[in-house]
Amino acid sequence: MAALSVFRALRTHFAAFATALGLLAAPALSVAQDFPNRPLTLTMPYAPGGPGDAITRVFATSLQKFLGQQVVVDNPAGASGTIGTAKVARSKPDGYTLLMIHVSHATNGAMFKSLPYNPVDDFEPVARGTSGPMVIVARQGFPATTVPEFIQFVRANADKISLAHAGVGSASHLCALMMMSALKVKLNEVPYKGTAPALADLMGGQVDVLCDQTSGTVPQVRSGRIRAIAAAGKNRLPQLPDVPAIAEAGVDGLDINISFGLYAPKGTPKPVIDKLVDAMKKSVTDPDTQARLEQMGVAAVPVDQATPEALRAHLRREIDTLVPLLIRAGVQPN
Ligand code: ASP
Repeated sequence: MAALSVFRALRTHFAAFATALGLLAAPALSVAQDFPNRPLTLTMPYAPGGPGDAITRVFATSLQKFLGQQVVVDNPAGASGTIGTAKVARSKPDGYTLLMIHVSHATNGAMFKSLPYNPVDDFEPVARGTSGPMVIVARQGFPATTVPEFIQFVRANADKISLAHAGVGSASHLCALMMMSALKVKLNEVPYKGTAPALADLMGGQVDVLCDQTSGTVPQVRSGRIRAIAAAGKNRLPQLPDVPAIAEAGVDGLDINISFGLYAPKGTPKPVIDKLVDAMKKSVTDPDTQARLEQMGVAAVPVDQATPEALRAHLRREIDTLVPLLIRAGVQPN
């Protein structure tokens, strides 16, 4: 008898629970079915006109094409990308506010004592988008042209040389740290809100050296406004075939490649994420998108990398490998 009443009570509770679940699931489903029915915001947490911005704008165009809604780029730049990243973490998890970011999503955890978000727990990875090399560039008139001259000059004049980057934990900062460690020098770091303002100062001759993604630097090298010293890795860049790779000069320990990925705030419904993943897969295989990225020396990832799993694994790898590197380089969290 007692067992029967317990069973009845459970059945009543179960029915109420199931109804509640149904009520909760119904709006989520209809939100997803409608998605997207208004413009989306794609957040790039570095300055307008920089390499991250250029890549983000390529994806804004392709996502717009494949989602059928306007995609607006927002650049809340500053504090090494953490201002914009925090803004997305706090946004409504409905798929309308998204983040395009690179390695700084992994490194900022080590760079800031109290980050206003958790890079892993506060985001849903959507898809990897690109992969691309970096290049060491100098202002015109810098008194070194070849790699051996560059190495000799920076070692002899380290305290007088300024090295620009986009803030602690940015790709250009990582490259700067790796370069200084590989060349065994300590130059004067000058942080900016992005590499667009850094590049502007390099072109103006206010700073000496920058290591940055090809998307921003190659056009300026080609126009003769700055000088390329070396590709920051083992291989020459197809866009600058006459510029040596730093490894050709026997320099080890500087080989860096930067990948951008798309994230949504934690709690974004799975059907919405699925639509975004689909649009990213279409983007990375879209000939127009591929061609626009290639012009900047950046590659769209293979389609099997344009997935939440691949982005999650990539972020994990970067956290596991780069954070210890920063700690070894003696970087102190702010
Ligand atoms: N990509 C740059 C960096 O991480 C930032 C930017 O795009 O401005 O150094």
